[in-house]
Amino acid sequence: MSVLKVRNLSKNFGGINAVTDVSLDIEAGEIIGLIGPNGAGKTTFFNLLTGIYTPSSGEIAYNLNHKVTTKDLKPHKITHYGISRTFQNIRLFQNMSVMDNVLIGFHNGLKYGVASALFRLPSYFKSEKDTYEEASQLLDRFNLLDKKDELAKNLPYGDQRRLEIARALAAKPKLLLLDEPAAGMNPKETKELTELIHWIREAFELTIILIEHDMSLVMNICERIFVFDYGNLVANGTPNEIQQNEKVIKAYLGEEAAKC
Ligand code: ATP
Repeated sequence: MSVLKVRNLSKNFGGINAVTDVSLDIEAGEIIGLIGPNGAGKTTFFNLLTGIYTPSSGEIAYNLNHKVTTKDLKPHKITHYGISRTFQNIRLFQNMSVMDNVLIGFHNGLKYGVASALFRLPSYFKSEKDTYEEASQLLDRFNLLDKKDELAKNLPYGDQRRLEIARALAAKPKLLLLDEPAAGMNPKETKELTELIHWIREAFELTIILIEHDMSLVMNICERIFVFDYGNLVANGTPNEIQQNEKVIKAYLGEEAAKC
């Protein structure tokens, strides 16, 4: 079943064609990689998918929690549609604890109403307790439970990246968009992240699209890869197909492909 259809999507900034006439389909449960040189249009594509940018032309259609098309796409409603994302420049509540960052992620899923929260009715306490328990389990799986009371800003970089993913998952998405999840990680952390992303897909039964420059992660984890260059989608295929694609090797992979 296709969860995302993109048709002839373009975005221009003044004279710059950041994304040009991109069409693609993504099936439920896939792990998809978006690769390409700096400035190829990958983040702009994510920003279009999440309603941050309005397309210059073209269509986006989701089939997740609801059927959603381009005109309905509003950034503040994304979580409601079943989409969560992380950012290239980590966006955490830096002065809040690790636990509070994840609890905020659960906010959309809480089941109590305003009255039970205001008057501290039993349903409020039950829901808060369940949420805390779920957040603890999530942090445990992300190796962050023993740091739950630390401020986010005091965590090492790799931990902050994992915390951002944990928070994104707390919203219970069906589609997870990860923008350079391995950026700044050392090889050991990247290997652990690779296993974690595999586990996330199985445990949460979701679809994942990731932008990544680390070719070992992309080639190990993605079932299909889309290659962007100057805003155009220049290739699409399995990691094997992409690694052997002459156009991609010339334009981008070069030495990176040989390392994997
Ligand atoms: P990187 O791998 O470096 O993150 P990218 O593939 O994500 O690059 P984008 O950030 O999407 O590339 O940028 C694509 C092009 O669009 C670039 O030329 C960039 O300068 C331009 N661009 C992106 N956002 C804007 C904006 N808000 N205003 C003007 N130009 C922009």
